[in-house]
Amino acid sequence: MKSVVIEQPGELVLADRPLPAPAAGEVRVKVQFASICGSDVHIWHGHNPFAKYPRVIGHEFFGLIDAVGDGVDASRVGERVAVDPVVSCGHCYPCSIGRPNVCKELQVIGVHRDGGFSEFAVAPAKNAFTLPASIPDKLASLVEPFTIAANITAFLKPQPNDIALIYGAGPMGLTAIQVLKGVYGVEQVLVVDRLPERLALAQDNGADRVFNNSDIPLAAQLEGVQPTLIIDAACHPSILAESAALASPAARIGLLGFSGEPCSITQQALTSKELSLFTSRLNSNRFPQVIEWMEKGLIQPEKLVTHYFPLAEIERAMTLFEKDPRTCCKVILHMG
Ligand SMILES: [Zn+2]
Ligand SMILES: [Zn+2]
Repeated sequence: MKSVVIEQPGELVLADRPLPAPAAGEVRVKVQFASICGSDVHIWHGHNPFAKYPRVIGHEFFGLIDAVGDGVDASRVGERVAVDPVVSCGHCYPCSIGRPNVCKELQVIGVHRDGGFSEFAVAPAKNAFTLPASIPDKLASLVEPFTIAANITAFLKPQPNDIALIYGAGPMGLTAIQVLKGVYGVEQVLVVDRLPERLALAQDNGADRVFNNSDIPLAAQLEGVQPTLIIDAACHPSILAESAALASPAARIGLLGFSGEPCSITQQALTSKELSLFTSRLNSNRFPQVIEWMEKGLIQPEKLVTHYFPLAEIERAMTLFEKDPRTCCKVILHMG
């Protein structure tokens, strides 16, 4: 089978690999579509501290179950599934309280173990979620990116009367906009980014007001409006301090960034307004929720997609995704 392998940082190859056999408790998925995420690019360039090489990347993928391992119901062969990349031990403290995404032995498919930029991939059977016919094949790999928004909003508990502010109108920011508007009915969703093309996309995804902070600081443009719910989907270390300064008293702030650089902020900046700070990583059992949102039409995954490429053009697709944020949002690979 053909697989996209990062042999070592900087070295991406489309390799011929042996077809994997599903182990006990696993299914094998004949991958149909897979979408590119920033973390795939990070593994390619050696910027993901968790990745081990060589690695088949890809953690956003959809396909058909074509084989099952021991202990898995053979009737699952043929099912259309989206695969949750979070593989957890099931018995450590975070697992015991329903937070497998921060399992002490966390294994992420496409990061710690081989992923979905491949004609076939194996995964635990319980990670393969059956999809209703109403979710089309070519959009089904987008369940995973929406689970990121589902996870952080579960912490933030958005309310219709919130004034939400989202930093960053990339894929994470856009999924957050859609979830705040379509699922939670938040009346005011504000979005800030430095690229006008991305702000236009934010409006298309439901943002009520957009701000370009490339020349004028956001504080000067908000004219005293104090957001009550803030999501940092731009993931720059400077954003936490700015968020705390702009926030309403009693606001909640959600962080998605993974930078190793320090954030500089005083206790006073947080405590004087009694701000709540939440962090969110991957997703904790959010696939069923996102599948239901898609089925009900509360979110529109098609609005994120700008390009489709065949697997053979992986390097071109990854390069476009990385270098061209003005024209490029979600890039989907098709395997067939
Ligand atoms: Zn991702
Ligand atoms: Zn665990």
